[in-house]
Amino acid sequence: MNYKKISIASVAVGMFAAGAAFAQNAEIATWSGFRKAAVSFTFDDGPQSDVDIALPMFDKYGYKATFNIVTNWANGGNSGMLNWDGVKKLASSGHEIASHSDSHPQNGAMPSSEIASSKGTLNQKVQQKYGVITLAYPNCNTPGDAQVLKNYVVGRICNASWSGGSDIMGKDGPNNWAAVAAMMTGNQGTSDFKGNMDKAVNQGGWVAFLTHGFTTGSNGFANYSPTDAKGMESSLQYAQQKDKDIWVAPMGFVAMYIKERKASKIEPQDGGAANTMSFELKHNIADNISKYDYPLSIRVKSDWKKVEVTQDGAKLESKVDGGYVYFDAVPNAGTIIVKNANAAAPESSSSAEPPQSSSSEVASSSSNGTIALPTQSLDGRHLAAYVDASGYITVQNAQGLNITVFNSLGNVVRTTKGLGLEQKVYTGAKGVYVVKIGNRAWSLKIK
Ligand SMILES: [Zn+2]
Repeated sequence: MNYKKISIASVAVGMFAAGAAFAQNAEIATWSGFRKAAVSFTFDDGPQSDVDIALPMFDKYGYKATFNIVTNWANGGNSGMLNWDGVKKLASSGHEIASHSDSHPQNGAMPSSEIASSKGTLNQKVQQKYGVITLAYPNCNTPGDAQVLKNYVVGRICNASWSGGSDIMGKDGPNNWAAVAAMMTGNQGTSDFKGNMDKAVNQGGWVAFLTHGFTTGSNGFANYSPTDAKGMESSLQYAQQKDKDIWVAPMGFVAMYIKERKASKIEPQDGGAANTMSFELKHNIADNISKYDYPLSIRVKSDWKKVEVTQDGAKLESKVDGGYVYFDAVPNAGTIIVKNANAAAPESSSSAEPPQSSSSEVASSSSNGTIALPTQSLDGRHLAAYVDASGYITVQNAQGLNITVFNSLGNVVRTTKGLGLEQKVYTGAKGVYVVKIGNRAWSLKIK
């Protein structure tokens, strides 16, 4: 199997009160959601087509990409290139904004002084939960690995195969975090997104793509190896169909996940009450770049039919499936408690609090295949949100409105804009969510 397996059987003996289910194993998933592979889409140079073509495409499927920005170009005045307003648009949809130098020299490596200065400028201009953690090198040339790794979680080159390496990385990432590979897409590179994603799934690894502009739209300086937008979109559709296997996430987030997973231990704690199991999830990664607080996917063996999982007292989404409890938790963020909910009051564990917004009313909840009633009116529209039979959040009549999905901790897990009469909003995991459309809200449960 694909998981980092930590046997805790030896320390679990005698730990729990009689009658409690014993934790035999707690495992950290190789990839988020216990999927089989990770896929990252990265875009270089910051052309206008990032906002005009890539942004709506990725938002439609609820996936996040990495946009590598040249700060001097974003300062404005370059035909076909984004200015800071455009970059902020990408960031406000939850995409990763990363560095691609200040000056982008035509040949050779970027000046090493720009390793830190480009990051500083981006952090000043754009608010991001994890800050600027990724650097993509202009012309694929590293300005100095050691210097890069003092400032970034990950430095990106281009095709590893151009210098004899492999473009599909293993589950533990590259040998050198200052040389993460990405496959060039377009007419100078690959158009076979699906084939390469399948390879990553078969190998249990990670593949990243590197795209400049598209064959259509306004691409400014990003005119090398234009990529067919339709081909890219069909690959997102494909990833969505294989959501159980494929984790699509920005390069910096996948890098954080790998580093945290390799460094973290999940360990049972002593003294739990009957019908509870408690765990610590910890790592001691020491650098000044990141807190490495991206959530890790965990499963714990249990024969309980219904559970409630909390971390530091706050509820986590969880599911029970095949003799395991599944949930995502943040390392170094407090004790995780898994509680047998059938031992407590029934039906007490599955309602989400709405996000902290007094203006929103939570309409109702629905399970898969049921339309939540009532619909809510907003400016003459009849808005609806429900979970369809396949387990996807679906909204209706929300064209042009902001759609935000919160988890039960109140954290935003997806943001997008309403496009068609009916639209699916992908969460990537089961659990209880609050969906806000404009200032209306629904509580939905994905089973
Ligand atoms: Zn470039």
